[in-house]
Amino acid sequence: MTQQDIRPSVPAQLSPAAKAPERRPLISYVLPVYNEQDGIAAFHAELTAALAGRPDLDVELVYVNDGSADGSLAILQGLAERDDRVRVVDFARNFGHQIAITAGLDLARGDAVIVMDTDLQDPPRVSLELVDAWREGAEIVHARRRSRQDTPFKRATAHLFYRLLRSWTDVDIPVDTGDFRLLDRRVADELCRYRERSRFVRGIVASMGYRQKEISFDRDERFAGETKYPLSKMARLAIDGVTSFSTTPLKLITRLGFVVLTLSLLGILYALAMKFFRPEITVSGWTMLMVVVLFLGGTQMLSLGVLGSYIGRIYSEAQGRPLYLVREVIGAEKDGDGDR
Ligand code: UDP
Ligand code: MG
Repeated sequence: MTQQDIRPSVPAQLSPAAKAPERRPLISYVLPVYNEQDGIAAFHAELTAALAGRPDLDVELVYVNDGSADGSLAILQGLAERDDRVRVVDFARNFGHQIAITAGLDLARGDAVIVMDTDLQDPPRVSLELVDAWREGAEIVHARRRSRQDTPFKRATAHLFYRLLRSWTDVDIPVDTGDFRLLDRRVADELCRYRERSRFVRGIVASMGYRQKEISFDRDERFAGETKYPLSKMARLAIDGVTSFSTTPLKLITRLGFVVLTLSLLGILYALAMKFFRPEITVSGWTMLMVVVLFLGGTQMLSLGVLGSYIGRIYSEAQGRPLYLVREVIGAEKDGDGDR
């Protein structure tokens, strides 16, 4: 089947396949960078080498410097000077990985947009496999990690997280995929309309529908430096993921309430029975009292915490602040901030 067969209703300017044959598709790479000074040049070299084998593609490389505190910006500026495919978005401070991706997507102009990490954990050659799947008609191509070289702890927590998310959320978020994926122009345009603050981009994409496809790859080790996702950031991302797509925690509170209430009723019956039938022992029971008070206090705190995390999201949405602030766009005209 040709692409024209699969995508008949696409307006000419949106569909790569419908274009005149001499027009090569433009592929945008969205590349978030946070303190990657030791790896970024190697990453760029490897990506350039991979792309050199594909003269059938035009590319633009949108590096988003997410407030790096090291020499990353200077290196990116150097790349932009030497390579006119490179654009660098320099954030006013660190806004986080998910926001950096969002800014890159806002600026990318390609017929397809690829989001990938810049630490060489997402191999550049795999991005070309994503392009091939796109040319065969997929509108979203996820790169799924068949294997990964991270520490056992990271692997275990990531495994747990993806399973939990899958069972708690209504959307079918692909297991073991990060943010390495390709989006068709139409999908990227639609994604740009999602302006929520605590964002979990991979979940939003999965919830969008369209023709999705998965490509498996072996995830490499980080080329240089440390992971920028320590446990605290991973936990925050996990909470964002769950709260963006699921009200299950709120329902769980209700269930917890029922369980605690049932136990309390049993306790009350027991206490009354003791009062009437064994009045001589009713003064004892300090242990029982402590257990009940601490248990109830703990469950209440937990429930408040869950409520609070949802209320916090409402609060930050209500403030309506821009998603990100850009100091400068290097290598092209500045076109947009986070307040679309
Ligand atoms: N990153 C970012 N802002 C941050 C943290 C990370 O732009 O606040 C970038 C980082 O430079 C990398 C990608 O996001 O390109 C993924 O980060 P990392 O490799 O540390 O995550 P991991 O692969 O360990 O999950
Ligand atoms: Mg990484």
